[in-house]
Amino acid sequence: MQESIKREIRIKADSFREKCKISRYGIMDLFKECDRCGYKLIRYPLGDNSDLGFATKKDEDIVIFTNSSSRLSREIFTLAHEIGHVVLHFSDGCSFVDDSITIAGKSSDEKEQEANYFAACLLMPTDDVARFLDLEVSSEENVELSAMDIARIMSEFSVSFDMALNRLESLGKIDSNQKLRLDNEKTEKKVGNLLRSASGNVRLNIPSNEIGIPYEYIDYVIYNYNHNAIPKETLDKALKCYQLSFDDISDKISICSEEKEDVNLDNLIGGLED
Ligand SMILES: [Zn+2]
Repeated sequence: MQESIKREIRIKADSFREKCKISRYGIMDLFKECDRCGYKLIRYPLGDNSDLGFATKKDEDIVIFTNSSSRLSREIFTLAHEIGHVVLHFSDGCSFVDDSITIAGKSSDEKEQEANYFAACLLMPTDDVARFLDLEVSSEENVELSAMDIARIMSEFSVSFDMALNRLESLGKIDSNQKLRLDNEKTEKKVGNLLRSASGNVRLNIPSNEIGIPYEYIDYVIYNYNHNAIPKETLDKALKCYQLSFDDISDKISICSEEKEDVNLDNLIGGLED
């Protein structure tokens, strides 16, 4: 990626971040920031082998979806990546669907690389990383970062262990040998244990399985239920998000008695892209 393009992306990530609530170094809750931006955020546990996220426009709405079956740190990165598509690539209403290839930076597509760079700059900006290392990590000379330090960086910036290592390497804070050593330490000690020892945010390392659907989509969920696209269980879960019961919406149900197939939300999600 050209340096001039990278700079443009840094400027946009920085101006997005300026509007976010920041704790000492990291963004407090990127999911909540979507509300503030007027994005319609859908979180749903689609399963491990499904897409990780997408960004699209439906009528005038910007809709972002993240799969909450992935570890929370990964879901947050996916969200930052999707926001990147919205901010960088949405001038003429296109859609982006992301899987483990695009999110892991293994795609050669320029827009995917740009969205990943945006996500890295949004979650771990150069200045804040430097400030964290300066103020929070032992300043004794020749002391190298430990896996525990990385766990603290994870918690502060709400990123995965791997993302923290990649970002520190690309910012020149660690070299490839140090990265390898830290990666081995991670494998040996396990991220969950490191987070616990560092009194960090253990939830980052497990899936939230959160279900979050914007209120106006409840009609959409009901529509899909009425057309046999989703099972009653999914409808019930969606209703629960709004503290509604099946009885509350029974007048909207035009149900047929046939057995509903146990399909997932792919149809609902797919429908949003029309
Ligand atoms: Zn993408």
